Formats: sequence, structure tokens, C-alpha cells
Amino acid sequence: MQQSQLFTKTLREIPKEEKSINARLLIRGGFVDKLMAGVYSFLPLGFLALKKIENIIREEMQRIGGQEVLLPVLHPKKNWEITNRWHYEEMFKLRSRGGKDYSLGWTHEEIITPLVQKFAQSYKDLPIYVYQIQDKFRDELRSKSGLLRGVEFMMKDLYSFHRDEKDLDRYYEKVKKAYFQIFKRCGLKNQTFLTLASGGTFSKYSHEFQTVTPYGEDEIYLCKNCKLAVNKEIIDEEKHRCPKCKRKKLERKKSIEVGNIFKLKEKFAKAFDFKFRDKDKKEKLIMMGCYGIGLGRLMGAIVEVHNDKRGIIWPEEVAPFQVHIVPIEIFNQRIKRTAYHIYKDLQKNGFEVLYDDRMDKTAGEKFADADLIGIPIRIVVSEKTLKRSCVEIKRRKEEKIKIIKINRLLQFFKRNKFLASESKKEQVPRKRDQKSKRHD
Ligand code: ATP
Ligand code: MG
Repeated sequence: MQQSQLFTKTLREIPKEEKSINARLLIRGGFVDKLMAGVYSFLPLGFLALKKIENIIREEMQRIGGQEVLLPVLHPKKNWEITNRWHYEEMFKLRSRGGKDYSLGWTHEEIITPLVQKFAQSYKDLPIYVYQIQDKFRDELRSKSGLLRGVEFMMKDLYSFHRDEKDLDRYYEKVKKAYFQIFKRCGLKNQTFLTLASGGTFSKYSHEFQTVTPYGEDEIYLCKNCKLAVNKEIIDEEKHRCPKCKRKKLERKKSIEVGNIFKLKEKFAKAFDFKFRDKDKKEKLIMMGCYGIGLGRLMGAIVEVHNDKRGIIWPEEVAPFQVHIVPIEIFNQRIKRTAYHIYKDLQKNGFEVLYDDRMDKTAGEKFADADLIGIPIRIVVSEKTLKRSCVEIKRRKEEKIKIIKINRLLQFFKRNKFLASESKKEQVPRKRDQKSKRHD
């Protein structure tokens, strides 16, 4: 994309009322715009990053047999009365002209359970794994942390339906692995820890995925030995010990809950009287699990973890573009032509490139913007580099600069593991097809 065509601009000023790092950087960089507290528009750069995150999540859900659906946002009161959750305090409610009551979806157990019930009657129909990626609405009291706590926010919610607890347990472990894979691909592997949290009325624990950052809203107690954490909420119950190795030396950390998985067991099956006929011909209640990830919160967490004083440092797989070409002295025709040629050539070879073709910006302004936007690789074309038929290459996360001959550039990028996007893209669908068949 040519940067002059972007309708958004980076902002010089830090938005005053924004206290969180993610909101400050994402707004300044032109990724998002705040409509009101907890409600954001995703602008072209932010939308690209969000789509990257969405695709990672989708790929990993497909790999574990998830079938994607899109459920309604508008819900009838009746479904929520069945489970006694109509009075849930975070739920937005509306009334139609005809006096009917509705709510906006803040979660979807009340919709998915009776939906799947229409199709699953026998043990032969099970297990079933269904997910969606969609906006949720919650009347949050504290939405001051940018994308971390939205009132309207995008969530991936997966629901699983099983014959028995053993099958639920088996799948639950599989989802755990898929979640770690997602957070790894989003660049949060080293900061994200499986965390034991309250399991509600049916299970001892639920599991959260907590990303450690200084400004997280949550607090966890981390066992460095086991890489397992305990949410503050239940640390007293655990007697301040690691539930696995029983060590008492746990480290208290601020963190962000990027994901949450939950064994619902028979809770919703009971409410909707969702039974199936088992192999032994007996009618039994179905077992359920639910598994959430907030996409915006994940994006916010990535920014909270990966930044410096100059701006964002996007991990490769979620960056809106892979390469940022920054020609300076662009009024020089030779520089402009060369930069444009490199831009086209990389694009032709499957790379995602942002080309700073703006004529009215100084070199200093362009560099500052490049650092703020945080594309993983920057290519500088200048009079100095062209004298040697070269360009300068710098990774956003490193200080060192490499000088590369222009005619070796493509080769250089293809050798670079993360930029070998073509081979990666080819492999993913193949694997996915094989795996999802196993669950058909
Ligand atoms: P929290 O304790 O932070 O309010 P929650 O327990 O209410 O989270 P869940 O209902 O389990 O969250 O939702 C699943 C996932 O959705 C969370 O792990 C988080 O990633 C995301 N999420 C929840 N609430 C929000 C929100 N207000 N804004 C953005 N993402 C959210
Ligand atoms: Mg909540």
C-alpha cells in the first residue's frame, strides 16, 4: 500500500485522556479511533492487524475441528430466562416498539445450546465443536484501558458438546494447546501463562491465559518452576502454594487475561433439557465446554508487551505489513523510481509492503512514523545507499542496520524465515484439511 493513499494520519500529540500504552500508541499510530469509552473504530492499519489476529485464531480453531458459524447479536429475552441470566448486570437490554424485550449478546451459551440441540440427538452426532468470531457487548464499569476492556469488543467463542466428561476433558486439553499456539504466533509466548481460576459451581478450576505486563488489570501468582499461575481470586484457597509442585515462592505479577476456557459440564444442558441417546440407549445430558479469546484485548496486549518509547514493535505474524519502504529525498527521481520498483517487486513476490511515498515529509518525520507504526522490517532508500546500489535494512526490534545490494534483496527476504510467507501460506490449508477430516 502507498502510504500517501492512507486516509488516516499519525498524530503528533498523545491523546490526553488515554492512560494506557495500547490506546496511546494505537490511536497515535492511526490504528484505531475512539468513539466513546470502550468503543473503537478499527482504521485501515488496525483493521489489517486485527485480521491477522483473526486468521491466526481461525486457523488454530479449524485445526482442532472447529466449525465456524455466525450467531445473532440480538437475543430474545426468553432464552435468558431459561437459564436465569436475564438479570445479568453487564447485559445491555433493548425494547422494541411492540414492547418486546431483547438483549445484545455478551456471550452465546443461551443461543448455541438450543441451536445445537436441534441437530444432536444421538451419541453418533457427537462431539460437536462450533465457534464464531463476532462483536460482544458488555456494560463494563471500567473501560479505561483502551482495547483491553471494550464495551463493544470482538470475541472468538468456541463451544464444544460431548457424550461424557472424559471426551470433554480430552478436547479441553486440545484447546489449551491450540490457545498456546495462538498466543505464540501472536508474539506472546514468553509472557503468557496458564492460570488457574475459579471454576464456578461445576468445576474446581477454569483456566485463564494471562499475559504478564506491568499495566495489566489482573493479578496472578506465578510459579517459575512449573510456569503455572494462580489468579489472585483463588490464591487464598490455594494457600499461596503452586497447585502443582506445592512451592510457596510464587511471584505476584500484573497481567492481562487474553483467554479463558471453562468446563460448563451439564450446566446448560440441564437448563435447556438437552439430552442425547447414548450407545446403551439411555438418555443422557450433554457435556459442554466454552472457550473465549478477545481479539481486541489480544491486540492491546500485544502492544502493551511489544513497544518502546518510539512506538509499537509488531511481532511478525500480526503486523499489518511485513516490510516498510522508506525512501528519503524522494523528490530525487532516481530514488523514487528505485523505491517504487522495490515496492512492486516485493509485492509481486507475495510480501506485504507499506511504501512511504509521501512527498511532503522530512526524513525525520518518516523515520518517526515508521517507528511509531512498527512494521517489522524497514528498508531505507537514499542517495547515499544508491551510490553503492544498496538499501539499508533494519528490523524494528533491533538497532543494527544492514546494507544489502538491491539485486540481492529478494533473495535476502526469501532466506529470512518469517518473511517466507509463501511457503507458510501454502502449508497451512493442507494441514487444516487433513485435521478437520478427522472430526467429520
Ligand atoms: P474479565 O474478567 O477481564 O472481565 P471475563 O472473565 O469477563 O474477563 P470471558 O467472559 O471469559 O471474560 O470472555 C472471554 C474472553 O473475552 C476473555 O478472556 C477476554 O480475552 C475477552 N474479553 C472479556 N471481556 C472483554 C472486554 N470487556 N473487552 C475486551 N475483551 C474482553
Ligand atoms: Mg468480565
